[in-house]
Amino acid sequence: MQGISLWDRSAEGAWFGQIAMTPDHLLRIHRLAEGLYTPIGYNGRGITPGTIFGRAMAELLAGSDEADLPLPVTDLAPVASAPVMSRFYQLVFAANQVWKSI
Ligand SMILES: Cc1cc2nc3c(=O)[nH]c(=O)nc-3n(C[C@H](O)[C@H](O)[C@H](O)COP(=O)(O)OP(=O)(O)OC[C@H]3O[C@@H](n4cnc5c(N)ncnc54)[C@H](O)[C@@H]3O)c2cc1C
Repeated sequence: MQGISLWDRSAEGAWFGQIAMTPDHLLRIHRLAEGLYTPIGYNGRGITPGTIFGRAMAELLAGSDEADLPLPVTDLAPVASAPVMSRFYQLVFAANQVWKSI
């Protein structure tokens, strides 16, 4: 089988975004105010849990009980190391992309 060279191709589109990381790499559901929830912290694995949490949020807003959510609702808590860890993750992800492109 012959290899395929991608060097002479150009990208037609690009996709990017922020990834919410948590110190323990587990996701969270926070209540920001009465009736206002934020499932967050998918740590870059949000396609499957995002779908499940989206359904759970819709059911909650339609009248189901908070206790039926896939995770308990927790309080927001500041993460002192967030600025440093954010830079660290940006560096690691960028290095990974450079490494893959060589
Ligand atoms: C660079 C990167 C790589 C990732 N890689 C992976 C991976 O390999 N595997 C994985 O599982 N997850 C990955 N994720 C995470 C995953 O993409 C997300 O967790 C997931 O897409 C979240 O889905 P969502 O439906 O909650 O939100 P989104 O996919 O962000 O969908 C929200 C939608 O709402 C629209 N919208 C926003 N505001 C409004 C408005 N006011 N009115 C109308 N529409 C609005 C937006 O345009 C968007 O289409 C990655 C994320 C990033 C950023």
